[in-house]
Amino acid sequence: MAMSVKPYLIDWVTNSLAVGQAPMSYEALEQLKGQGIGAIMNLCAEFCDLHWIEANAGFEVYYFPIPDEETPDLQELEKALDWLDECLYLGKKVLIHCRFGIGRTGTVVNAFLLRKGLGHKLAGKRLKGLKSKPANFDQWWFIRKYGKKEKPLTIREPSLETKHLVDLFPFFADYERLAQEVDRHLLEADCHSRCGREHIACCYNPVVVPFIEAVYLNHMINATLSRVERQNAVHRAAEARRMAKEMQSTMEDCGDDRLAEAYTRANLLCPLNERQRCLIFPHRPLACRLFDLPPEKQGVLLSGLSEALDNLSRQVYFAFTSCFPEAKPLSFLLLEVVSGRFAQIFFHQITAGTARPITS
Ligand code: SF4
Repeated sequence: MAMSVKPYLIDWVTNSLAVGQAPMSYEALEQLKGQGIGAIMNLCAEFCDLHWIEANAGFEVYYFPIPDEETPDLQELEKALDWLDECLYLGKKVLIHCRFGIGRTGTVVNAFLLRKGLGHKLAGKRLKGLKSKPANFDQWWFIRKYGKKEKPLTIREPSLETKHLVDLFPFFADYERLAQEVDRHLLEADCHSRCGREHIACCYNPVVVPFIEAVYLNHMINATLSRVERQNAVHRAAEARRMAKEMQSTMEDCGDDRLAEAYTRANLLCPLNERQRCLIFPHRPLACRLFDLPPEKQGVLLSGLSEALDNLSRQVYFAFTSCFPEAKPLSFLLLEVVSGRFAQIFFHQITAGTARPITS
């Protein structure tokens, strides 16, 4: 008889922040992934290995051990809440858990709500109906004291979510449909070799991505890589840029638009390649997916896609600026997307009032 899997239940405090008990099986960890959780704050001082298991299962983990029934150290709590703020800002869904998801979890999440400026009354309202609450006198007292330090916001409505001013998800959904179409074509063409996993030949190419892809990849890098992976990738991107610039300065015509050529000449590896594997393989750019196709088939597919990508880029450009781009919307070296510099280039173009396609 097939064993039924016990549902692992979590409570959502906001759309991106959940609380619950410790996940005590691989099935529970899978269920967390199924609910979109990408990061975990583990408060269990009693389990010294669970945070490793969670990290090995692919979650970004912040281990903040608090002994059962006790209160957090104030300085350590601020560091943990900084991490939580960063995850939420980057669009990750986070679970906070202790063993049963009651006292320690309730204390930390209550402190988070106070730090966001909700004050005791609104924080209490937000936690109403959840079992995660400060559960003994020490924890209540800690929260009272914490609330005195973090005064309620009175000048504006406190917000628990860092909302993007533009809702990009409908555009991302359209882009993902294009990526699925590309994958379907690859299967039909019997092309099973996948650059970024089976080999890394495409990772020495200066990948140039249109605006929609730059915005999508930036989101995926933020939402799916751990803090350390992201920091290392940004560091590699900065270093690769420095080397490409050095190579560019030795070239005869070293105009800005020749950075991609300098990148190829310097034989630089994509900053998203770590230990011979693509860090964002499921979300890699279309150019990387198409790399293993024969050039003639690649060309046909790319020209078929370019209109759809161009339209999506224009729509995202309009969503950001409320202006139509004057020319073809920008395109960027993947290197600049990883380093985050593409945002600077984009805003420079807006303020300069030009929307020329650029690759540097
Ligand atoms: S995005 Fe991934 S597959 Fe593409 S070049 Fe970079 S590491 Fe390679």
